[in-house]
Amino acid sequence: MIMASNCFECGKSLTGRIDKKFCDDQCRHQYNNKKKRIHEAAILNINQQLRKNRSIIKSLNPVGKTTVRRSLLKNMGFSFDFFTHTYRTDKGMTYYFNYEYGYALIEDEKIILVTYQEYMNKEIYDLFTQRKFD
Ligand SMILES: [Zn+2]
Repeated sequence: MIMASNCFECGKSLTGRIDKKFCDDQCRHQYNNKKKRIHEAAILNINQQLRKNRSIIKSLNPVGKTTVRRSLLKNMGFSFDFFTHTYRTDKGMTYYFNYEYGYALIEDEKIILVTYQEYMNKEIYDLFTQRKFD
């Protein structure tokens, strides 16, 4: 039986064991390092956006609570796709936090900005079930 498989890293055809993926350790290491770098870059990009979101809210909200237009945040490079955690009020409003700075969508493209308060720590909701953790 002839197996025509190639090295995952350099593409050279492989001989030997049927489950072989690389010519040698060098190719294996190179391949795994590349894969790791891609994952690290993805983490880095998300962290950068979270930090950017945080500093945008911080710069617009020096007093603890204020209202702004959604378009203002967007124009400053804010991304609504990323946040670190949520907080839900008794009235069912969800605040999305970037570290200690959060926001909630209200009406007419308006957004309320808040700073993290100690009492919020007591009620952490599961993001997926929206139920309170015990
Ligand atoms: Zn190779």
